[in-house]
Amino acid sequence: MSITTEMSKDTKFEIFNQISTYDHEQVLFCQDQATNLKAIIAIHNTTLGPGLGGTRMYNYKNDSDALTDVLRLSRGMTYKAAITGLNLGGAKAVIMGDPSALKSEALMRKFGRFIKNLNGKYITAEDVGTTTKDMEYISMETKYVVGLPEVRGGGGDPSPVTAYGVYLGMKASAKKAYGSESLEGKKILVEGIGKVGSHLVELIHKEGAKIFIADISESSLHTISKKYDATIVDLNNVPDADIDIYAPCALGASLNDNTIPRLKCNIVAGAANNQLANEERDGNALRDRGILYAPDYLINAGGLVNVYTEYNGYNKELALSTAENIYDTTIRIIEKAQKDSISTYLAANIIAEERINQIGKVKSTY
Ligand code: NAD
Repeated sequence: MSITTEMSKDTKFEIFNQISTYDHEQVLFCQDQATNLKAIIAIHNTTLGPGLGGTRMYNYKNDSDALTDVLRLSRGMTYKAAITGLNLGGAKAVIMGDPSALKSEALMRKFGRFIKNLNGKYITAEDVGTTTKDMEYISMETKYVVGLPEVRGGGGDPSPVTAYGVYLGMKASAKKAYGSESLEGKKILVEGIGKVGSHLVELIHKEGAKIFIADISESSLHTISKKYDATIVDLNNVPDADIDIYAPCALGASLNDNTIPRLKCNIVAGAANNQLANEERDGNALRDRGILYAPDYLINAGGLVNVYTEYNGYNKELALSTAENIYDTTIRIIEKAQKDSISTYLAANIIAEERINQIGKVKSTY
């Protein structure tokens, strides 16, 4: 192999520009030719504790897309942990490549070695493209991994805890919008009735809500509508539906400049990540329309709470009781947004940043 030290005149070293945009602490590029591993671990902020965030495996178009994704996702984890009151920082990892073609025990274990070398600054978990089995492989090399199966002392599927947090965020929003947290008789549309959405339907059904559902899966629609007497809404008509509460539990960006002007609901509270296509524009648009938006990254934090609990020795009751903080935090965010005339999204960001700054000061003094 020949190595050149000459740099092309056009080469611009821009990685540090990207890393400093969100003020990341550390970014680790990992490669191993024997297993074809190419991964990036981004540690955004560890003021509150070790950075916890899943490992995403995806066939990115290029290195730059992978870096942008991991930087954005890891920053999001910092805010999610901070607003939820957890002693965790924010981090995330991406492995580049098609999971079905590239994944192997050796690759996952090699990746585990890189995590081990970070000595606990980063704790990994499952994400898109990785599975519980992959976490087991990683755990053969390092203890800094969560999301293990229940039989191995893990917390299992986090979706029920996530749904519980969304349910509490919805009830807190109802308290503010209607003066009562009761969801009885409220017309609630759950878009995406997968792992989280179906658990959410069960919770709101128990409370006597009138349930509406939308999904691309005909079989899920059939099963859930029968079980909970839910009305099926065509996906194209979701933004125009005559409902009280809209719960996006499928994909991101369902709140945008096309859908927001059409919404008839009073509250948006759902599990999907990144519901606002543009945080500032769409957060303000919802506020201008008088629609109460429960910030996604707070009310869907039950999954993070679940794996955090696992890290300290899993206990389902503790996970559920920690998730209960989501109710009070949602109230606090709504009150701040109203007092300062800002969007709930911005209010959540400000409260998360305040906690990081305050705890950072405690840690830097004796
Ligand atoms: P899932 O894959 O089990 O369910 C997603 C559901 O959405 C499926 O029923 C699918 O058919 C449906 N769907 C897919 N595309 C759709 C579309 N275009 N329109 C309508 N429905 C569509 O996923 P999940 O674990 O239930 O997660 C749901 C959302 O919540 C995701 O955005 C996820 O990132 C987020 N989330 C999940 C957790 C968790 O604990 N599972 C935690 C935090 C956030």
